[in-house]
Amino acid sequence: MKNYITVIGGGLAGCEVAYQIAKRGIRVKLYEMKPVKFSPAHSNKDLAEIVCSNSFKSNSHTNACGLLKEELRLLDSLLIKIADEVKVPAGQALAVDRDDFAKRVTEEIVKNELIEVIHEEIISISEIAKEGIVIVATGPLTSESLAHEISNITGEDKLHFYDAAAPIVTKESINFNIAFYGDRYSQEKKKDESITEWKKRLEKQSIEENSYINLPMNKEEYEVFWKELVEAEVVELHQFEKREIFEGCMPIEVMAKRGIDTLRYGPLKPVGFDDPRTGKRPYAVVQLRQDDKQAELYNLVGFQTNLKFGEQKRVFGMIPGLQNAEFIKLGVMHRNTYINSTKLLDETYNLKKNNNIFFAGQITGVEGYVESISSGMVAGLNAVKRFQHNSNNMLINSKKNVDEADKIVFSEFTMIGALAKYISTENSKFQPMNANFGILPPLEEKIRDKKLRYAKLADRALENKTEIKDEEDNM
Ligand SMILES: Cc1cc2nc3c(=O)[nH]c(=O)nc-3n(C[C@H](O)[C@H](O)[C@H](O)COP(=O)(O)OP(=O)(O)OC[C@H]3O[C@@H](n4cnc5c(N)ncnc54)[C@H](O)[C@@H]3O)c2cc1C
Repeated sequence: MKNYITVIGGGLAGCEVAYQIAKRGIRVKLYEMKPVKFSPAHSNKDLAEIVCSNSFKSNSHTNACGLLKEELRLLDSLLIKIADEVKVPAGQALAVDRDDFAKRVTEEIVKNELIEVIHEEIISISEIAKEGIVIVATGPLTSESLAHEISNITGEDKLHFYDAAAPIVTKESINFNIAFYGDRYSQEKKKDESITEWKKRLEKQSIEENSYINLPMNKEEYEVFWKELVEAEVVELHQFEKREIFEGCMPIEVMAKRGIDTLRYGPLKPVGFDDPRTGKRPYAVVQLRQDDKQAELYNLVGFQTNLKFGEQKRVFGMIPGLQNAEFIKLGVMHRNTYINSTKLLDETYNLKKNNNIFFAGQITGVEGYVESISSGMVAGLNAVKRFQHNSNNMLINSKKNVDEADKIVFSEFTMIGALAKYISTENSKFQPMNANFGILPPLEEKIRDKKLRYAKLADRALENKTEIKDEEDNM
């Protein structure tokens, strides 16, 4: 058995993993393909390169990502510590000097005597996993050959290639004086139905028939929205994205630019709906589709977009019913390779069918810088446990189950634990997920005020800090 752990990918997750393992006295071989080979979005030769925004989002505990960062600080996250050191003024947010950040992380990793950095593209992991533990942290732009190998190992005929995502809002922030439930055609008033019969039928409709929330628009509302949409500011795309995106997936603003009525014949088609307030077919309808098991989150159907984040909030916030919407995720467009973790991984980011293989970072379906670091933390701590288990039992049989006591599963009340649970829980509509309060178990008491509720959820998560600290102290 190998006397070291292999980490593939020296990005945000891979560096956190390597640091956490070395901190516990175990040697690491960290493979990073840069500068021999660069993904289409990477250009800096250092490790832990931030490819887009320099923001690690809010630092406030009443923000889900702020809470996640606080939990990671308690666990002595190297990357959050360095982010704090190289921060630049950004109000409540933690924004970093990206070059300093990558440089400082690289220094810490390279000077660590237990970590050997090897600049090489890895194209096969099954051989490595036969004789030791491997953590795959190659990110959303995993090189093609390795992506192919991962498909073979996971048994999934294709990885998810996710070019575009629509924004997601919380159900409770939708105005139900305007919105109505119902699927196309099943919601529509039948010709022979009276208004009373129709309304009664709508009330009785099954959950399946009501899995959509609909936002009707009249002509004037639609035209104002359309004009703002076509004039809104978009993010400049990387060259590779221009090539890949437009073939299969049309951003809503691009479709809108084809003509004022194009959306009304596309995603905003009103056919099959009647507005229960007027009994008439609206001029256009925006549909929202349920996004989570608890039916607390809804995505805007067909609204994959490349608008700047501020513009998304402004323009989509003009849709009747969404004026006070809480956007827990905004639309993004880029290539994103991720595995179907809900089937493949457990809550420690360990591959169910081969205990010697872990995944970490965006490739697991967590989304965002801090979320990638968080998954690296959990995978790293558990890889150490697995390594100790293998050493204690002189086990090299990767199919042998690890004792539950040999795993570190974080409480689902913490943001770290909730994310790990989210990505490892069966979900046929699985899509990459940011830290957000919607994935934490609800409070026992109902608190309407959102700020207060988030504060309570954050307090409850941090009450588990003894547990979080214990994990740190016991290893
Ligand atoms: C274009 C783009 C923009 C994004 N913008 C944001 C944003 O603004 N905010 C945000 O929070 N998140 C953003 N993300 C999402 C995500 O948070 C980042 O991609 C984040 O860096 C993911 O961390 P990671 O460690 O999983 O992967 P990465 O940081 O990408 O690290 C993976 C590393 O693995 C290396 N690698 C790949 N294949 C191999 C191989 N076969 N062998 C060896 N090494 C390999 C790569 O060179 C890279 O260094 C963006 C993603 C993309 C693609």
